[in-house]
Amino acid sequence: MPKCIFIDTTRCTACRGCQVACKQWHDHEAVPTLQTGTHQNPPDLNPNNFKLVRFSEHKLDGRVHWLFFPEQCRHCQDNPPCKDAADEFLEGAIIIDESTGIVICTEKTKELTKEQCEEIIDACPYNIPRLNEKTKELTKCDMCIDRVHAGLVPMCVKSCCTGAMNFGEREDMLKLADEHLAYVQKTFPDAELLDADFLGVIYLVSHPREMYHEYAKRETHPLNRADFLASVTKPFRNILG
Ligand code: SF4
Ligand code: SF4
Ligand code: SF4
Repeated sequence: MPKCIFIDTTRCTACRGCQVACKQWHDHEAVPTLQTGTHQNPPDLNPNNFKLVRFSEHKLDGRVHWLFFPEQCRHCQDNPPCKDAADEFLEGAIIIDESTGIVICTEKTKELTKEQCEEIIDACPYNIPRLNEKTKELTKCDMCIDRVHAGLVPMCVKSCCTGAMNFGEREDMLKLADEHLAYVQKTFPDAELLDADFLGVIYLVSHPREMYHEYAKRETHPLNRADFLASVTKPFRNILG
């Protein structure tokens, strides 16, 4: 049965408990931080931060508003573009766990070249995977598959005390997402679920997605194999005629 995380961003207080819990569970190293003019810290996803609470600051109705977006891999349900791209180079580098639908970067990604890893990262519409320069592995959220297989909820969901993060069977999460959406739309009529039809991680946002983050919602459906091949051979077509 496909598993799913539902994230209601309207309930997120940016406490970053989920971000810390993810690091702790995966035994990730601390990353030196700097104040870069925003409370978002670290500035981007990296091999030691599979989860990042993004902050975006806006002036609305004469007041400053913060919008929070707890970013992670979306575990694309059908033909994940990262897996399609990886399969072109090395089968088994990125796999889908059959029993849960979780998309996993395996140790085999170490055998990919840096250029191949960059192509895979480019294929992700949400700009999620990151290359660990030390281990040479591609990294990203694994939906805490060890916990899920043990009957536990992902660590970030476990740590969230506001109800922003929820986990369960996909069908149940879609139902919960629809209920939350109906409630939020009473105050924010333009609220929506992002790409709910084809993702294993569904976000509810109250404001236009571009206000949260450049990659909050992809514009197109997953790239299929033919599209991917066309995209990687495009630079050579002019040369070859
Ligand atoms: Fe938001 Fe929950 Fe994460 Fe806190 S733990 S930042 S409330 S999603
Ligand atoms: Fe792959 Fe990106 Fe989809 Fe995650 S969000 S499964 S990295 S394509
Ligand atoms: Fe991190 Fe697990 Fe949450 Fe993914 S599901 S962001 S790996 S804690």
